[in-house]
Amino acid sequence: PAQTTEEFDVVVVGGGPAGSTVASAVALKGHRVLLLEQQTFPRYQIGESLLPSTVHGVCRILGVEEEVARAGFKPKRGGTFRWGRNRDPWQFSFALSPRLADPTSYAYQVERSRFDQILLDNARRLGVDVREGCRVKDVLADEERVRGVEWTGADGASRQARARYVVDASGNGSRIHGEVGGKRTYSDFFRNIAVFGYFAGGARLPAPNDGNIFCAAFEEGWLWYIPLRDDLTSVGAVVSRENAADIQRDPEAAWRRLIDACPEVRDLLTGVPRATETPYDQVRVRKDWSYWKSRLWRPGMVLVGDAACFVDPVLSSGVHLATYGALLAARSLNSGLAGAVDEARLFEEFETRYRHEYGLFHEFLVSFYDMHQDERSYFWKARKVTRLGTTELESFVELVGGLASGDSSLGGDGQAGARVAEAASDFDRAVGRLPDSDGLRNPLYESTTFREVFREGTVLQERGLLGGPLEDETPVRPGGLVASEDGLTWVAG
Ligand code: FAD
Repeated sequence: PAQTTEEFDVVVVGGGPAGSTVASAVALKGHRVLLLEQQTFPRYQIGESLLPSTVHGVCRILGVEEEVARAGFKPKRGGTFRWGRNRDPWQFSFALSPRLADPTSYAYQVERSRFDQILLDNARRLGVDVREGCRVKDVLADEERVRGVEWTGADGASRQARARYVVDASGNGSRIHGEVGGKRTYSDFFRNIAVFGYFAGGARLPAPNDGNIFCAAFEEGWLWYIPLRDDLTSVGAVVSRENAADIQRDPEAAWRRLIDACPEVRDLLTGVPRATETPYDQVRVRKDWSYWKSRLWRPGMVLVGDAACFVDPVLSSGVHLATYGALLAARSLNSGLAGAVDEARLFEEFETRYRHEYGLFHEFLVSFYDMHQDERSYFWKARKVTRLGTTELESFVELVGGLASGDSSLGGDGQAGARVAEAASDFDRAVGRLPDSDGLRNPLYESTTFREVFREGTVLQERGLLGGPLEDETPVRPGGLVASEDGLTWVAG
């Protein structure tokens, strides 16, 4: 039986980027927030390559942008790819034009143990009651709503924390996400496996692209190469799930073999030893990461970050989706606690926008995989858009459709396959033009898919930079809500 009970406005489960973001953004409005994290920070996590919206948008709103800037993370101006028809590597940069000195057109490559600690300490500074080494076992609920959580601390004693809202931000390994929307729907298309580790150095691309992520497609899949520090490089292989047994038998041998099979990456690591410092001295494996849920909230509870959904490591969308979803949830929580608007309306706004952003990345990443062709390769042949299984397509159309989002590109009209194919050729055309571009304007930005995918991120960046969006925000659906000026609540559109 539970021994003690405490009361809060919001209990957040998990102290990763999603948990810290939602907790901080709710504490900024003066509410009482408890954050329970089962591990003791710093703790290891994968997901090291960020997008600008997290750094300049979310971190700015949370008041932690300068501290992140001072931490010495490797600035990332964009990505370099050996991918698609062109055998030569091509780049894309976050800057709209390489000649424009845009102060928000970069992100960072981060050691997640340090980045996540900065965000969690910032939450503490903002008044969140952060408790590490505290594990949530269950939620407390009645027929009407979720009312709190049951958790255990280091002493093993069971405790209760009651709250108006519970946020599940406990990531991919969440034990409580099933309280909302039942089981996860796993993607067949992104049913990959990753094996990854670290080198104590490695060659760098020529400046100013030395902080870029480098992604190289090869016969069995693709590799990431992320420069974290001069003396630390993260290298991971994403391959078909059919390799799981082989990888799990000897992860390090599989990792080495896959790197050797991709000369573009192998050659950057000639003579470079493996990292020996903890936590970088291990080779790790992850799979089953691509899923979504039929619902993201119910009365009293909301899911954010990997607890809710994740697409795929390619193009670094994970921490963006986690922190963006957390900010959307915080707006609904803040408005709900203020009693300003009907709860269902607030959380439908959160869910619609979060699904929309997830749907954009999902569609975009499918077309990104589709862009690389290798007829000899099982991995790449299985990732042609025409091979997207009908059940997958149906459940995905269901996911993005029927949302009354007012956005025709996401309607449930059964045309998702055609749109994905269109997006792929749109994207491929833009990339095909990169080498002979005059360098004035990044041709990727002429691709409507690309612009649309990065639209929310850009709005976030602008809000961070200027304290509000450049243009008046219009609701994403009839009767929808828009963000307040400080970005922390919803107001009528
Ligand atoms: P997490 O960071 O997982 O945090 C969840 C926290 O909850 C953890 O600290 C955990 O200890 C805690 N917790 C769990 N259960 C409990 C409990 N019962 N009680 C209390 N606390 C609990 N994303 C990118 O942006 N860029 C990349 O380059 C990238 N690469 C990736 C590569 C791979 C192979 C994979 C699988 C993912 C990658 N991602 C990447 C995605 C990224 O890892 C995640 O999207 C991101 O970490 C999600 O953050 P989160 O806060 O939701 O969860």
